[in-house]
Amino acid sequence: MTLDSSPSSDFADPALHASGLFIGGNWLAGTGIPVVNPSTADVLAEVADATVEDAICAVDAAEAAAADWRATPARTRAEILRRWFELMTEHADELSRLISLENGKALPDARGEVAYAAEFFRWYAEEAVRIPGEFRHAPSGANHILVDHDPIGISVLITPWNFPAAMATRKIGPALAAGCTVILKPASETPLTAYAMARLGTEAGVPPGVVNVLTTTRPGPVVNAMLADPRVRKLSFTGSTAVGRTLLAEAAKTVVSCSMELGGNAPFIVFDDADLNAALDGAMIAKMRNAGEACTAANRFYVQAGIHDAFVAGLTERMAALTVGAGIDPTTQVGPMITTKAVSNLDRLVSQAVDSGAKVTTGGKPLPGNGYFYPPTVLESVPFDAALAHEEIFGPVAPVYRFETEEQVIALANDTEYGLAAYIYSGDLARALRVSKRIESGMIAINRGLMSDPAAPFGGAKQSGLGREGGVTGILEFMEPKYVAVNY
Ligand code: NAD
Repeated sequence: MTLDSSPSSDFADPALHASGLFIGGNWLAGTGIPVVNPSTADVLAEVADATVEDAICAVDAAEAAAADWRATPARTRAEILRRWFELMTEHADELSRLISLENGKALPDARGEVAYAAEFFRWYAEEAVRIPGEFRHAPSGANHILVDHDPIGISVLITPWNFPAAMATRKIGPALAAGCTVILKPASETPLTAYAMARLGTEAGVPPGVVNVLTTTRPGPVVNAMLADPRVRKLSFTGSTAVGRTLLAEAAKTVVSCSMELGGNAPFIVFDDADLNAALDGAMIAKMRNAGEACTAANRFYVQAGIHDAFVAGLTERMAALTVGAGIDPTTQVGPMITTKAVSNLDRLVSQAVDSGAKVTTGGKPLPGNGYFYPPTVLESVPFDAALAHEEIFGPVAPVYRFETEEQVIALANDTEYGLAAYIYSGDLARALRVSKRIESGMIAINRGLMSDPAAPFGGAKQSGLGREGGVTGILEFMEPKYVAVNY
């Protein structure tokens, strides 16, 4: 199938991307996975459901393309990625609508995602030509030490539904820049964006087999079969900590290199000396980007006693003023949750908190209708041991906890198995830096509600993950250092 670029073709039309698996540059017909619009519960399109045999065909295709891609000059690889960035930017409106339709997120969030996602291709187009090496003298004086970086090999990339474009480009960009061929398995809730991006990749000049995309309702057996194949050398996974643990165990059998971007439980700490309005602005971004369905979403608002009541009042007012609606509706600020199960989970967490003494200041109950809607919700007087202090909320619910001292809040912030992101608001930069040094987290934002940046190393400590994506280190996740001891 060739990319239909006729003026009548609407790139945002789900039907256009409803074809099948993308393997070896070919579109293989198939059905079996309905894609549902969470704003209406209507089926948008159907995509193919890959079998284990299909997955091995994808590994065959990635293997067939590997030698040529690895030998392709870095400048050429860079120019293809750069062209892919440009095509995503040209098609930003249509991609945003597609993301909004299948994921439900409000259009401004979808537009933000497309810009963020495309930037990974631009950033790694620039990094492809700067792959580092090392040259040293051995301390003994006996030889020289040369360190080269080789492409690690065929990479399996697994992505979640919450950022269907950005989680894919954050992996494909560095993998292709490093010289690896890949098999992308997007979440079956949001496959249309991945297939749309594959079409743009072909137009950008990505050779057949360098990027393969498959969707499946059997992720366990399909991914396990690829990990068991000795040709596969890398697994890059973004998703829940629970699935990450299972995959690490599976990858151990063949000692496949793993990068893991897992769940989060971000504390958002507001000290008495913070600028209240700035903290509220930041809180709205950190909580409500993507309607709270983000791994970096503020999950626990710890607010010091002196500013607590003003913060709760301000947050309640801002959250209550948001417009909830279908993602694609231009007036919507908060779209639906991804599934009805996600809504039930929010309902459970909020009900449990209320039963244990929390007070709802706005929202607090699922909204009626066909779509999967939950309103922006603020809870105060939440006990420190409530379930939502320990689980990922993944929705528009903001629990606020009152704290007294710096020592207390550091202990509370670290009281979790996660360590992905944290936010600190304080007018005293020395205090903010002192506290950030003691928070067990891979990323910290000080007086900001957003830290994601393709130029920065994204990733978590503790059970939030292994390795980093983005930045100058992201490309090294897809490379194997090779040390050569040499005399000359
Ligand atoms: P999930 O773990 O359920 O699924 C993620 C992906 O793994 C999907 O493609 C899914 O089909 C696949 N999968 C599920 N079971 C599998 C198995 N047994 N073997 C192989 N693949 C399997 O997560 P989700 O619900 O799609 O996404 C939400 C989670 O992702 C949250 O925990 C969130 O914090 C996390 N997340 C993390 C980051 C990060 O960068 N750290 C970014 C976005 C999302």
